[in-house]
Amino acid sequence: MQSGTPFPHTLTDQFGRQVDYIRLSITDRCDFRCTYCMSENMEFLPRDKVLSLEECLRIVKAFVKLGVSKVRITGGEPLVRKNALWLFEEIGKLSGLKELVTTTNGSQLVQQAQTLKAAGVKRINISLDSLNPTKFKEITRVGDLDKVLRGISAAQKAKFDNIKLNTVLMRGINDDETLSLVEFAIAQNIDISFIEEMPLGEVDHHRESSFVSNIETLAKIQTKFELISSEINTGGPARYWQVKNTNTKIGFISPHSHNFCEACNRVRISCKGELYLCLGQEDKIDLMPLLRAHPDDDSALITAILSSMQIKPKGHDFDLKRAAPAVVRFMSHTGG
Ligand code: SAM
Ligand code: SF4
Repeated sequence: MQSGTPFPHTLTDQFGRQVDYIRLSITDRCDFRCTYCMSENMEFLPRDKVLSLEECLRIVKAFVKLGVSKVRITGGEPLVRKNALWLFEEIGKLSGLKELVTTTNGSQLVQQAQTLKAAGVKRINISLDSLNPTKFKEITRVGDLDKVLRGISAAQKAKFDNIKLNTVLMRGINDDETLSLVEFAIAQNIDISFIEEMPLGEVDHHRESSFVSNIETLAKIQTKFELISSEINTGGPARYWQVKNTNTKIGFISPHSHNFCEACNRVRISCKGELYLCLGQEDKIDLMPLLRAHPDDDSALITAILSSMQIKPKGHDFDLKRAAPAVVRFMSHTGG
């Protein structure tokens, strides 16, 4: 496509699904090493193989031009990337964008919550898998629970439109904390989502034996709390329930027990500039060579994004029983 050619204002895939949401991983690095997300000795990418923040911005601008209205900045841990705030501020200024959101492990929020809010971040997801400091350290291998809890308080003080905890339950590890995590969310007036563990990347534990289905988690929560099925649809894979007489919603992101692909509205961009059309499939287009070959002209980038819609797969194919991971790349690389 030549510069100046008008673009369609929406991205629609071959199955008629409209893509209006991107998740961009701005780093594969992290200050934690969660057991379900990374192996103990992760090797991180050399700097020149990772998108610069300017390249990240070019990609976001191109998608916004094509009708994307929601951007999630993720990682790795996005807030450990040097100068990440600059990117948040630049994206926050884009007209056409309705929502800038981020997912973080919370470790940097004491210092960064206010500035992120000021940059235009509307909603924030904070991962929290345990309220027990010893177990928290076991799961994250290096994380400090107290720092994350102080980060959650800082986010509350910054008054984001919404704060949601993200929890991955693992059998025999933290599944005994299901109810206490819900109680914590209620006490804090925030939401919580339970994410089923996905077979992304080779990790050091056996995913099949640690897997906890969200069907089981929902039933456990219903033994203690009255849940009202919520019509809320964030355009994402989560199904929400309101906890009666509270401000807390509980989401269930269930790639195994509930296939959410039919309403998929998103694509992901890895920190290497790979445009992944599905979290659970390998279909992708490498944007980095296009960005670097045409530093001052986005038409090749726009053409690539438009044509990627033809290869967005119908759905993922997660199967925990398979010996090899469904997808060899880690969530920290693609961006959760
Ligand atoms: N570091 C940030 C964090 O932990 O929130 C953002 C990146 S992290 C990859 C995004 C989300 O993916 C986190 O909520 C994490 O719990 C989740 N996650 C990572 N690996 C996963 C896996 N294999 N299955 C399910 N969720 C996973
Ligand atoms: Fe880091 Fe987030 Fe992965 Fe944990 S889940 S290792 S905090 S990227």
